This record gives sequence, structure tokens and C-alpha cells, in this order.
Amino acid sequence: MRVLIVEDDPLLGDALAAGLRQLGHVVDWFRDGARADAALAGAEYDAVVLDLGLPGGDGMQWLARWRAGKRHEVPVLILTARDGVEDRIAGLDAGADDYLVKPITVDELAARLRALARRRSGRSTAVWEHGALGFEPAARRVTWQGRPVDLTARELALLEALMANPGRILSKAQLQEKLYDWGESLESNTLEVHVHHLRRKLARDVVRTVRGVGYALGAALGSDES
Ligand code: CA
Repeated sequence: MRVLIVEDDPLLGDALAAGLRQLGHVVDWFRDGARADAALAGAEYDAVVLDLGLPGGDGMQWLARWRAGKRHEVPVLILTARDGVEDRIAGLDAGADDYLVKPITVDELAARLRALARRRSGRSTAVWEHGALGFEPAARRVTWQGRPVDLTARELALLEALMANPGRILSKAQLQEKLYDWGESLESNTLEVHVHHLRRKLARDVVRTVRGVGYALGAALGSDES
């Protein structure tokens, strides 16, 4: 998933970004709310990890702004040193989906993010199943007809984006956002290459091409149709 981290502590921000990237996520990290706000307007994120004590404007103010008029409905996880019960209540009531108090491990943060993604996709189990496909986000494990399949980090991210949005057509731009962060440049046909590899390693009908629009999750039954 693509995660936006808003954290002004350089050591913590770096550790969180590196840790989540290692787990296969695409991460953009900004140190203040204004830059995060601009990033939210420019890309589609699966979750925001939001510090509260930030330079140039408190995290609570940014959260209130994002939730006002449903400007951004992206799941927001507050990660802060403020541990008072009244702070937690205020954060959740302002529209945060989860509230974590520092210090925290990357593993716990990743598990909380998975829980948010699960809730959002309407799934309640740790293994996502679709046709002959099985996907376990926590272990980054994919099976086809019960057998494990080796996918690259990018192929996994692509499959995860499609499985997290069953029944939805995703444009090429939307999918590229799930695979690459701001710092990376990419060739125009890179996405097509990943789709090709996914179909070759799994089955043709895993990814459905919607001509002129983008891609969607296919039936994944192993038939030749796509
Ligand atoms: Ca801070």
C-alpha cells in the first residue's frame, strides 16, 4: 500500500519510512502538514501516519481540515507522544481511524495499517481470497491454486492494489501511485511490464484490461479470458 508519513522527528521518520519500505510498501515522508497536504492532493494514499506536534501547524488542525467537507477520506493513524485519554478521544472524534502513542515498533505500525486496509476493503480475515488466488498481506505471500508463487515487491504491490479494490477499475496513474513514490522516475511502459509478469506467473485472467481506462481485478479462475 502507499503510505504518507507526516513526522518532523528525522530519526523516527527515517526509521518508519525505511521499515515500511522494507515490508513492501510505497512511502512518502514529509516533515510538516503543508507538504503532506499538497501530497494528499496529488496522489491517492491508502493511509496517513500523522504526528501531532508538527512545525507550522498542529496535526489536529490538518486532520480537521482534511475531514471538513470530506476533502480527504483516507484512513488516518495518529502517532504521537500525547498519551492523555482526552487527547485520544479528541483525535478519534476528529476523524482519526486509529491512535497510537510513541514509542512504537515498525511491526506494530505495519499491523495497524494492515487492519485499516482490511476494514476499508471490507475484509475481516488475514488471508484475502479471490478465485484461485490467495494473498496474505502480513507475510507478503501469494498462492495460486494453493501453491506459493514468487512475486517481486512491485508485482506484489500491484496485486495488492487490485485485490484491495475488487470491482473497481483503476487507472494506470492510480496504479503507478501504488507502485512508486515521489522520488522515483519511471518508464512509460513499466506498469504494462508488471501486469505482463503477473499474468505470466499467475494466470491471464488475474488482471482484466479495460481498454482506454486502466485495469481491474479479473475473475482469477485460470481461464484464458482477461
Ligand atoms: Ca513531532
